[in-house]
Amino acid sequence: MKYINEPPKKIPILAKTDVLVVGGGPAGLAAAIAAAREGVNTILVERYGCFGGVITQVGVEAVAWYRHEGTIEAGGLLFEFEEKARTFGASTKECQSDSEALDAEMFKYVADKMVTEAGVKPLLHCYAVDAIVEDGMIKGIITESKSGRQAILAKRIIDCTGDADIAALAGVPFTKRKREELSIVTQMFHCRGVNTERFLRYIEELKPTYADWKGFWKMETSGKEDNMFSPYLVKPFMDAINEGFLNKPDNVDFGGTYSSVTPEGEVTQLNMVHISGIDCTNVEDLTRAEMIGRECVINAVNVLRKYVPGFEKARLRNFGMTLGTRESRFIEGHYKMTGKDVMNQGRFEDSIGIFPEFIDGNGILWLPTTGRYFQIPYRAILPKKIDNLLVAGRCISGDIMAHAAFRNMGCCIVTGQGAGVAAAISVLDDVPTSKVDIRKVQSTLEKQNVRVF
Ligand SMILES: Cc1cc2nc3c(=O)[nH]c(=O)nc-3n(C[C@H](O)[C@H](O)[C@H](O)COP(=O)(O)OP(=O)(O)OC[C@H]3O[C@@H](n4cnc5c(N)ncnc54)[C@H](O)[C@@H]3O)c2cc1C
Repeated sequence: MKYINEPPKKIPILAKTDVLVVGGGPAGLAAAIAAAREGVNTILVERYGCFGGVITQVGVEAVAWYRHEGTIEAGGLLFEFEEKARTFGASTKECQSDSEALDAEMFKYVADKMVTEAGVKPLLHCYAVDAIVEDGMIKGIITESKSGRQAILAKRIIDCTGDADIAALAGVPFTKRKREELSIVTQMFHCRGVNTERFLRYIEELKPTYADWKGFWKMETSGKEDNMFSPYLVKPFMDAINEGFLNKPDNVDFGGTYSSVTPEGEVTQLNMVHISGIDCTNVEDLTRAEMIGRECVINAVNVLRKYVPGFEKARLRNFGMTLGTRESRFIEGHYKMTGKDVMNQGRFEDSIGIFPEFIDGNGILWLPTTGRYFQIPYRAILPKKIDNLLVAGRCISGDIMAHAAFRNMGCCIVTGQGAGVAAAISVLDDVPTSKVDIRKVQSTLEKQNVRVF
């Protein structure tokens, strides 16, 4: 037997709202705050106990590690997140850029404050598990939580789940690459008890650059990155494998970057244990990757202790709260962004914001030191087939090369803020999201300090 039939049930309605945002990561936070600021009732639903998505749940703190002199970017809510974190003492110097790394723990609190101040109604510990669709329009979602199975009805819904869960459940067409082609997943970790003086001296001698990435990952730079400093460690892991100290499972790669070195002896965002062949929309794959990942992190800490000066007495501070996942579904939208758009300064009349020419993925690393940037069209967040639904974040409509740019948190915040404003205007003007007045969306975004063109 492959299936059982679930008997029909009466589902209590938990809430009704103008705009419902599902998923509270960088895109969802931006979408909810932007919508609420336009004066519409907004609910933000999140499956875990904190907002922040990959920032707080995985521990990815470097929201703007691309930023250098000459970088041109959208501003908007990314700048506000950074500013608010600074005010709360919730960031430290990011070591490779003109930016600060957010403190992943403190950002949980910063996000609470920003959501509350914007007047968003928050719902944590609330998993969206189904979409309510009638006549090609999305009307609401079904949630599961400790309160049981409930419904939330909304005039407009923004899917910010990273995996386009709601869009897929609603019947929006999507693509997903084969398991073996999907981007690696990462078990993130942070260390404490590091003698940071000794460690930084070692790094000074090692002089790692972005060119080093090429030896390990299949990676091409534009050339201008090659001599720039990158906080990148792979040699200790290679030495440990060659000397038989580290056992490398076939689907695991060791090595990568860190983000900050703090005066308290922490080295954070150790992005160094990667697992391939994992489909992050499959529960058994997720379970396997979490557990293999933790085993490998313990081994990686032992390697750092033995091979990296300053780490001799280091200890694991924490694993990410959950596995870090990069890629699953991409919705089919009214426009599909391409590598050509993000690498050739794409320009669109329906732009909802800009992002610098920062490409990190699919075998390419380009840093935006030149002032070049691309625009993101509204049509890329507007799904086919279902009206009154928008999708923001890493799963918008685009090819895998465009994803290497729009997956970055700064760009997820741009698409989130654009979606939030568009949803609010479509409610206020009583028109579906496919018919929203794009000029009004653009001028409202500009009032919210977003650079649109
Ligand atoms: C290991 C790793 C390192 C990275 N490094 C960087 C970096 O240095 N800089 C950078 O800019 N980007 C980096 N990225 C990419 C970036 O973090 C992500 O692409 C980005 O966070 C995606 O934002 P999002 O809002 O679309 O999704 P997410 O950040 O994944 O947020 C989605 C949110 O939705 C919630 N959710 C999911 N499904 C449901 C559901 N059904 N119901 C309710 N809630 C749900 C999740 O719990 C989460 O809070 C990295 C990614 C990984 C995994």
